[in-house]
Amino acid sequence: MPAHKPRLLDVLNAFEDGIYIISNDYTIEYMNKHMEELFGEGIGKKCYEVLIQSDKPCNWCKYDKVFINNETHHSEVYIESVDKIFALSELPITNQDATISKLSLYRDITHTVRQEEKLKSSRESYQTLFTHAGCGVFISSKQGRFLDVNPTLLKMLGYRDKDEFLSLDLARDVYLSPKDRREYTEIIEKTGQVVDYEVKWRRRDGNILHILLTSTVRYDTNGDILGYEGIVVDQTRRKKHQNEIKEAYDFMDKIISCSPNAIMAMDMMGIIKLWNKSAEDIFGFKSAKVVEKMNIQQIFSIKVANNVMDMMRDEKFGGRGRLNSYPLNFKKNNGEIVEGNLSASILYDDKGDELASVGLFVDLKERLQTERELGEARQHLLQSEKLAAMGRLTSQIAHELNNPLFGIMNTLELMKTEISPQNKRRRLLDMSLSEIERLADMLKKMLSFSKPDQDKRIEVNINVVIDELMMLYEKRFRENSIKVSMNLMENPGLIKASRDQLRQVFINMFSNAMYAMPDGGSLEISNKIVSGKLYIIIKDTGTGIKPDHMKKIFDSFFTTKKESVQGVGLGLSVCYGFIKDHGGDIKVESQEGQWTEFTIMLPIAGK
Ligand code: ADP
Repeated sequence: MPAHKPRLLDVLNAFEDGIYIISNDYTIEYMNKHMEELFGEGIGKKCYEVLIQSDKPCNWCKYDKVFINNETHHSEVYIESVDKIFALSELPITNQDATISKLSLYRDITHTVRQEEKLKSSRESYQTLFTHAGCGVFISSKQGRFLDVNPTLLKMLGYRDKDEFLSLDLARDVYLSPKDRREYTEIIEKTGQVVDYEVKWRRRDGNILHILLTSTVRYDTNGDILGYEGIVVDQTRRKKHQNEIKEAYDFMDKIISCSPNAIMAMDMMGIIKLWNKSAEDIFGFKSAKVVEKMNIQQIFSIKVANNVMDMMRDEKFGGRGRLNSYPLNFKKNNGEIVEGNLSASILYDDKGDELASVGLFVDLKERLQTERELGEARQHLLQSEKLAAMGRLTSQIAHELNNPLFGIMNTLELMKTEISPQNKRRRLLDMSLSEIERLADMLKKMLSFSKPDQDKRIEVNINVVIDELMMLYEKRFRENSIKVSMNLMENPGLIKASRDQLRQVFINMFSNAMYAMPDGGSLEISNKIVSGKLYIIIKDTGTGIKPDHMKKIFDSFFTTKKESVQGVGLGLSVCYGFIKDHGGDIKVESQEGQWTEFTIMLPIAGK
């Protein structure tokens, strides 16, 4: 090994860089301390064995340049074994014996290179972010001009030419109202930043944008404000959606609050979340007292609420989570019964779990009432039709019977003249004659019943009619152990009526009452005036009427009387027809096995 000056070697050892010297056959002649620390002892070994653990020279080695051309060469190399980047200088040195060696100097620049790489990549990232960010990014001057903007902001405001955009006066050309920019700068200069500042900007085409601005202040080295930088989010579509959602919500809210049906919503614990105006009216609970404060089980009973939930969960009541038109009666605090139909459904979340339930209650009070009235009217109409038909039939029969009857009567009269009054047969003949006369009288009545319109109407005192009939019936009532009590007003007013028809009505009533009290009882006849109408009440303590017969007793041909001789079921239907014909009404109440009470209502003449 050629001799090197020891002093020079000390200097080389003190270097922070790795230094070694090789002879022209790649043998390491010298390695400084730092080089040994990096690659281990190497003197006497081939440089490439030490550096890259290879049996061939390193591909960056400039052997030729140094040993042949006697030139110095600088390069940058990466050595994998130590994972470091070096700035390499290879230079020829002349030994004392005039031979050439190569000195290689490895300066570790790993940190610097990596930092630079990082810096470069982060600069590139920022540039990419700036260019491709989904929101607008800007740097602006304090005076109110954009200094730089990203393409998104340019596009957002409808500009193609960036220079045109950068020449805009922000307060005048971009802000819808210059005052907004003043307000924005005041806030940002006071606090150093603005976050989500809502403001309206104007696009190049004049359309308005709803902007959300977040920015900070840029200062110079002296701490003076240079301008601002930040991001711009276009809120226009979101605002539009918000408005649409609000409109839809308001619309729904109006529908719910104007619905004539009660609408309610509950969470799965039963806590009421929605209670519309109709629910307030129908159930009598104010929304403010109910929403978030009451459980549906407090309104309906626990039993009803659970029952409704069970039915909703059962497919057969309207499908999964649905209940269709379930009749529900509800008793209000004031005791009033609300009759209606409940339809309900369960709301599910995305996973199919139960979220809430909604109910719609239709109050059927008025509908049911109308239906009832309609049913009664239909019934009465039917009754009138039946009566009319019966009237026609009766009149035909009466007509047909009239002539033969008079024939028989004449024959009997004739026979009477031929039989002496002392003759036993004469009495039989008289009896036959009187029965025939009764029959003729009945036929006459039948004819008059069937022609109510032609019947003469006169002002009648009901008390007189009842008294007259009582005189006839008194004996029969007594014989049947029926105690009659009369409680008639002294002046019941006058009724414009057919006396015969009224008589027929009371005869029917009395006969029925008598039939209903085979073992005796009491009959009470009273009257009173209510709102211009005379009420005549006939109450007996007889067999009473079965509840399911109540609706039928005024029907023609309805009878419970066994023997066909006793009843054909026309009595009450005739009464009903007469009373209705007089502008009145007739009602019945009864307790089976106890009593029956008929009330006849007739308008008082002149009232
Ligand atoms: P009829 O007397 O021919 O049966 P009505 O039309 O007069 O026909 O009466 C119909 C039915 O109404 C009777 O069969 C009877 O069942 C019932 N009814 C009428 N009046 C009374 C009463 N006072 N007490 C009990 N049932 C009565």
